Amino acid sequence: MTTTYTGAKLCPKCGCDTNIYDSRVTLEGTVTRRRRCPSCGTCYETVEHFHCIIPPKKNRK
Ligand SMILES: [Zn+2]
Repeated sequence: MTTTYTGAKLCPKCGCDTNIYDSRVTLEGTVTRRRRCPSCGTCYETVEHFHCIIPPKKNRK
């Protein structure tokens, strides 16, 4: 599964892994995730595009 992050997956302040504490899927095919860094407490949102996880059609002839 591949997702494209238009926001930072890691904490923009300290670069640590962050915890997702809320996610919201929109009809436009994106999911907004609210993340919180466990190290410095920074909260921010990322927007992921769901269309990237749909495999391309390979049965073209
Ligand atoms: Zn941090």
